[in-house]
Amino acid sequence: MAVSIHPAVDHGVKPGASGFSGGTLHCHCASHKVAVKIDAQTAHNHACGCSKCWKPKGAKFAVIAVVSRDAVHVTENGGKLHIVDHNATIQRHACRECGVHMFGRIENKAHPFYGLDFVHTELSDEAGWSAPEFAAFVSSVIEQGTPPAEMAGIRARLKELGLEPYDCLSPPLMDAIATSVAKASGALAA
Ligand SMILES: [Zn+2]
Ligand SMILES: [Zn+2]
Repeated sequence: MAVSIHPAVDHGVKPGASGFSGGTLHCHCASHKVAVKIDAQTAHNHACGCSKCWKPKGAKFAVIAVVSRDAVHVTENGGKLHIVDHNATIQRHACRECGVHMFGRIENKAHPFYGLDFVHTELSDEAGWSAPEFAAFVSSVIEQGTPPAEMAGIRARLKELGLEPYDCLSPPLMDAIATSVAKASGALAA
């Protein structure tokens, strides 16, 4: 049996649709669901093994993408949202009843990813969101109890799915962070 990564990719990665322009995310509550409308296609969608991202029950990885914060609107039952950890760089706004993270927001204007919100497009019924492209923070699944001996199989499965495994973020995102740091320090012209 293939190693399970996340229900959204275990049967193969579904491609995004060109011209797709967004949809609505719903939390897992049976009624009075929190709804978050997103007016844009997402980018940099990826599997994430970190301990902070929300994962559906039983999944080893989260699947998470970014979108401009201007495109994210809480439209229903926003009163159920709370911030999971006020001290975290990414403030994850979660439903206090079902625990699902509806969006993660960076409030530090100096952060390289300021202006981007983090969202789980599996919470939407619409198809066509940008496809997962890589896997981030893969080694971190060990911190959550995955035996190290399983890592070779997990990395092999990620590669088979076309999700290149990285132990931090992908090279383009790491380069974006380093560029922002270099511009802030003056090592590169702003
Ligand atoms: Zn809920
Ligand atoms: Zn994560």
